[in-house]
Amino acid sequence: MIQVFQYPHETLLQTSTPWTQDDSIAGYDDKEKFETDMIKLMLEERGMGLAANQIGITKRFFAIGHETFDTFQKHAIIWNPQVINFSEEKVIDVEGCLSFKDIFVKVERPKKIEVQYETTQGKTEFAKLNGMESKCFQHELDHLDGITFNKRVSKLRWQMANKG
Ligand SMILES: [Zn+2]
Repeated sequence: MIQVFQYPHETLLQTSTPWTQDDSIAGYDDKEKFETDMIKLMLEERGMGLAANQIGITKRFFAIGHETFDTFQKHAIIWNPQVINFSEEKVIDVEGCLSFKDIFVKVERPKKIEVQYETTQGKTEFAKLNGMESKCFQHELDHLDGITFNKRVSKLRWQMANKG
C-alpha cells in the first residue's frame, strides 16, 4: 500500500530522475492500478497534487487535478513534467502540502507558466496554466527537485506559519 510520507522523509529531499518506458513501480504489475491508487490517496488526503517522492518513489511524475482547474479538471498522473516558460508577473498565495500536515504558508511564484509533460499513453502535451493550477504544478515540480515549500519562504514567514 502506498502512503504519504511526512517531511523530512529522505525521498522528499532527493532529486528525482526521469521516468522511462522501462521503469516500473515496485509492488505493482499494473500501471493503471497504481495510478488509480495514487489518485485515490491524493483525494483521500484532500490534495490537488501529489508528487511521486511524497510516496517514496524518486521518479519524475506527479498526480494533479481539481474540478476548478482548466487543464487538469480530471485527475491525472503526468510524467516527466517541465516548465518551459514562466511569466515575469508573480503572485503570493497560500499553499499547503500533504507532507506537512496542517501548515499553510504564503509562497511567491510566477503567475503563469507554460508546461510540457507526457501522458500515461506516452504522448507529449503542452499547456498554459494560471491561478491555483499554475501554483499547484510548480509546487509538485519543486518536489521532484527535492525542494519542499518551506525552502521557498523566509525563515520568519515559516516560523509564523508553524505557530498557526
Ligand atoms: Zn507538497
